[in-house]
Amino acid sequence: MFKVSKATVLEITQAIKNREVTAEGVLDGFYENIALKDKEINAFIAITKDLAYQKAKEIDLKITNGEKVGKLAGVPIAIKDNINILDERMTCGSKILADFKSPYNATVIERLAAEDAIFIGKTNMDEFAMGSSCETSYFGPTKNPVNLEYIPGGSSGGSAAAVAADFAPVALGSDTGGSIRQPAALCGVYGLKPTYGAVSRYGLTAFASSLDQIGPFAKSAADTAFIFDIISGHDIKDSTSAELDFNISSELENFNIKGLKIGLPTKFFGEGLNREVKNTVLAKIEELKNKGAEIKELEMPHADYAIAAYYILAPSEASSNLSRFDGVKYGFRAENIKNLMEEYTKTRAEGFGDEVKRRIMIGTYALSSGYYDAYYLKAQKMRTLIKEDYDKAFEAVDVIITPTTPDTAFKLGEKTGAPLAMYLSDIYTISINLAGIPALSMPIGNDSKNLPIGMQIIAPHFQESRILGLASFMERML
Ligand code: GLN
Repeated sequence: MFKVSKATVLEITQAIKNREVTAEGVLDGFYENIALKDKEINAFIAITKDLAYQKAKEIDLKITNGEKVGKLAGVPIAIKDNINILDERMTCGSKILADFKSPYNATVIERLAAEDAIFIGKTNMDEFAMGSSCETSYFGPTKNPVNLEYIPGGSSGGSAAAVAADFAPVALGSDTGGSIRQPAALCGVYGLKPTYGAVSRYGLTAFASSLDQIGPFAKSAADTAFIFDIISGHDIKDSTSAELDFNISSELENFNIKGLKIGLPTKFFGEGLNREVKNTVLAKIEELKNKGAEIKELEMPHADYAIAAYYILAPSEASSNLSRFDGVKYGFRAENIKNLMEEYTKTRAEGFGDEVKRRIMIGTYALSSGYYDAYYLKAQKMRTLIKEDYDKAFEAVDVIITPTTPDTAFKLGEKTGAPLAMYLSDIYTISINLAGIPALSMPIGNDSKNLPIGMQIIAPHFQESRILGLASFMERML
């Protein structure tokens, strides 16, 4: 019998088209599983049942009437709660937006809906996507479905957990410094951070606009490619979106491992990397070498400065982006306020959590007159040097492979009091956002505690097809 909650996107669309199941039946299966397990895991902030069943009924009717349906007909998808779905709640994991309802659809939502996808719920996240463990959410932490004592990673921890727990075959997250790839790695699923400009950010609540990208979580390379194809492409509503069209699903089979040049940045395999993670990644690289790939070591001289540059640039942009949450137009407003200034200060003091306040303060400081050159400008210069490291590397290699994270998942509460230790979880992912290039985390095994290990595949701008071609090859080979 067809087990709905374990199925991939392609299996679900096939089964619905062949009338083995209805879209409503598929939805029942996933909601049953959510009802059973999400009290404990807490992957969802909101369940969008009315919207979901309304769409499922429409699709089933179309199929009964023999009408044409979209490529994702009946496929449930979980959406990170910083992406707008018209008339649904969007909290960004924050008290300040706890009761906010979206006045419009994000472009990615429009595109998925046009292909008849079903939005199953809004997933939990670190507040305003700031964090690496999904513990800064106002709605409580999400737990890792693989082992409930561990964090799922963040900030898109709810989306990663939703896919890993079989609450949906696919999900969307956002990645500013690692927020798709790191939780994907820690939960044992696929997660793609597209090239900056490949996917429209219209309707994604901005954290750091020059780094943010929306991307998919999935259970296979093919599903990842399938969702990427649908959500990507030019959008007039996002001036940073590229005038390109992607159709990488059809190109996956063309991938050729013979002579593929793979770069290994030595710095990403050095100090601070867990031995089991290192050995698992290196073993996979060895297999690729045996299949005909050429391996080259890379230096990446500026890699060590990525975290420092990011923690100036991202908070600077955040301090500006989050200034709109002041009690006037959006969401929460503090009570008993005497004047306008108090409205701002009390609303923000009560509405934001500690990590968000920390970022706003760092960013405001870095941008303030007298400090701008010393911090913001210097960090921008470092960003350019880091991007040039990648440009140079890609003159010699086709893809770069690294571990996604320096370690497997850590325990809940283990790093909540140590922001710097938390920031280090993104040591291998952050430079990719600074360079604006695409990268995927794919699951490649487990450590001795049975926690998932992720491997990161990085490619030049707009070469998502190369990344997913390799990932799909590895899936078949392994
Ligand atoms: N963990 C990083 C941070 O806290 C990255 C977050 C993200 O990619 N949204 O900023």
